[in-house]
Amino acid sequence: MCCARKNLLSVGLACSLGLACSLLVSLGSMAAADAFMADSKQVSAVEYLYADVSDANSILATIDSGLLSTYQGKDRAAWLQLYSQKRAELAKELQGLPTSGLSGGDARAIAAMRKQMETFTGGGAIASPDAKCRDAARKDVAYTDIKSSLVACFSEIGDHLGFEGGKINRVSALDLLHEISDPRRRKAVFLAFVPLWQAINRNDESDSPYRRMIAGAAVAAAKDGSEIDSAARDVGIDAMEVERWLVQILDAWRESSGDSLVEPWDFYFQSGEADRLLAPYIPPESLRPINHDYYRDLGVDLEQMGALYDLAPRPHKASVSYTEFVTHGRMVNGAWRPTVARISAQYERGGLFVLNELVHENGHVVNLSAIRNRPAYVDWPSDLFAEAFADVPAWSTYEPVFQHRYLGHQATQQLSLRALYSSVVLDVAWSLFELRMLRSPTSDPNALWTEITNHYLHIVPHPEFSWWAVRVQLADQPGYMVNYGLGAILTAEMRERISQALGPFDAGNSRWYGWLSERLLRYGSERDTRTLMQDFLGRPVSPQALLKQIRRLKQ
Ligand SMILES: [Zn+2]
Repeated sequence: MCCARKNLLSVGLACSLGLACSLLVSLGSMAAADAFMADSKQVSAVEYLYADVSDANSILATIDSGLLSTYQGKDRAAWLQLYSQKRAELAKELQGLPTSGLSGGDARAIAAMRKQMETFTGGGAIASPDAKCRDAARKDVAYTDIKSSLVACFSEIGDHLGFEGGKINRVSALDLLHEISDPRRRKAVFLAFVPLWQAINRNDESDSPYRRMIAGAAVAAAKDGSEIDSAARDVGIDAMEVERWLVQILDAWRESSGDSLVEPWDFYFQSGEADRLLAPYIPPESLRPINHDYYRDLGVDLEQMGALYDLAPRPHKASVSYTEFVTHGRMVNGAWRPTVARISAQYERGGLFVLNELVHENGHVVNLSAIRNRPAYVDWPSDLFAEAFADVPAWSTYEPVFQHRYLGHQATQQLSLRALYSSVVLDVAWSLFELRMLRSPTSDPNALWTEITNHYLHIVPHPEFSWWAVRVQLADQPGYMVNYGLGAILTAEMRERISQALGPFDAGNSRWYGWLSERLLRYGSERDTRTLMQDFLGRPVSPQALLKQIRRLKQ
């Protein structure tokens, strides 16, 4: 749900603001230090150089996010100089490594470093600062530039939607759709999005900015594979099977959610009763303490992890919430120097939906912090796994036992499940939408979205509105929504498996973190998702666990 970690730049460096430097975590019984070392001394030296470059890269991204202007006493210019110099050195050293005679482990690590190095950008804002929304209308711009322009529309227009004489941002508007009880005012919030939709998809003409962008995305996908192809590979199925699974989930919702038709501006409200009931108990200032207490009860010490929280609204800040490395954990003198992560978000309000997102982002922090591996693999697992894992703790916020313990009040199970799974199935609907758009980029997106939402979600057809265009990912990373839609299948699988092995964890379970670190998280980017899940479940992934959850709605 919600919030992407960006697939940007990663890679690590020294410790952080002094927070984590003093907290050298001992390895305990988890693994011997040798497991984090290359077999060859020459490879080991290159790998630690790689770790320096990788850290400089992610520190530059941290500085460019606007969170800080210096890090460890060095400003941007100093970090850039260090990055450029060490990167050149690394390229030379990698070139100079022997091509034969290395162990299999070292050879794989070198390949991983080479691949990851290609993604280093040496900083840069998440949204390209030169991109302008109006350029999306130009017919002569290249695919990547249309994407940047469309992302700019989400800031330029999406941060200033007109409502009742004032301006609200996109996230607040989506919140208000859950909360406002007067249907006319809800419709007015919905219509506040019209300028954004028109910037993205004009009047749905065949050469609208979105249609030109998705045509470019389909060409790129044919050449290099799409997010959908890689998510399918991560689960061990093909794209056709992905489509079948998505349809199965949507069908389960269609059958379990009642069959009265609802207007699109009423859909969020109708499913948001739990959010409304609990909103008074989740003021903005309570978000971090609640999140902290839940993770403490899962055996996670967030303070010790030392993540940087950048949660307040700020002009020119990325409009999507995300988590990234600041520095990457590594062995220093026989002890593990921890990873430092940061969360970027723009929280103007409290509430259950925002709490769920904050717990999700901290799920990413926990994932990154639990990695114990050689530098080549201290990195994100697949997008699919990362998003799915972050929702393992986040979905607990919609369980009455969580609410009772951490909010002191609870919604009924039916209302809670409806709130959670309505947003899960919307992600599934977007996944199916993108899968079909990428397969047939000349399709009419409004017609396709209308067909999906009318048939499966019982929503009144409004093909005159491009109301699918409320997620930044649709413009920024076409196909990425599958990591949420298909990710929900993995989330339900992991939640079921954990409950079977450890017992319930929605109101805490002190074995949770240690157990998951050992079985799922410590590998970082070393193990592919398919193997990881197969070993974890003892069988291949299937949609059954999620189908079972959605059918709880009928009980
Ligand atoms: Zn995420």
